[in-house]
Amino acid sequence: MARYIGPVCKLCRREGMKLYLKGERCYSEKCAYTRRPYPPGQHGQGRIKLSEYAIRLREKQKVRRIYGVVEKQFRGYYTAATRRKGRTGEEMLAMLERRLDNIIYRMGFAASRSDARQLLRHGHIHINGKRVDIPSYQVNIGDEIELKDKAKAYTRVAVAVGGAEKRPLVSWIEVDRGKHKGKLKATPIREELNEPLIDEQLIVEYYSR
Ligand code: SF4
Repeated sequence: MARYIGPVCKLCRREGMKLYLKGERCYSEKCAYTRRPYPPGQHGQGRIKLSEYAIRLREKQKVRRIYGVVEKQFRGYYTAATRRKGRTGEEMLAMLERRLDNIIYRMGFAASRSDARQLLRHGHIHINGKRVDIPSYQVNIGDEIELKDKAKAYTRVAVAVGGAEKRPLVSWIEVDRGKHKGKLKATPIREELNEPLIDEQLIVEYYSR
């Protein structure tokens, strides 16, 4: 599985906003974007006027980085979304939201989506009683997700659950953090996905150019 393994704070600085890729650190004074809110590199503090193309490219890169998806897979979500009945941008976001790694993060069992990927790659996640270790797995409405007993005792899970209180819980997820289990109860709602701000129409324009 291809994935980005470089410094993630640079990605927030490049996109000009917090993407919350590092868990607890993102909410602290140590956040690199809080300390240096300008793009990385020698010319990071210079004035740059983005072209129309660059604005769309940046929006696509931003969302891809938020969900930790490589380009090929991201384009795959776009292509699949164009075949659905609803609005392409919203359908694409709904598919990204239903990724298993994202759901684990939203439930608060991991401090970030990359943490969630590690948890499930190591076989700590059960869906409807069966082990699932595929980060891109599309969770279905009604699926019951639970951490394995061994993972429930992990300090990093306890820290993540504590930190999750700072994030608002989205309405399509039901979770019992004490019992380390939860459920996807509805389709993700676009209006609730506002942190960080996303303009999915720009991504549709990027791919359909
Ligand atoms: Fe790094 Fe998180 Fe701050 Fe982004 S929001 S710069 S990932 S600490």
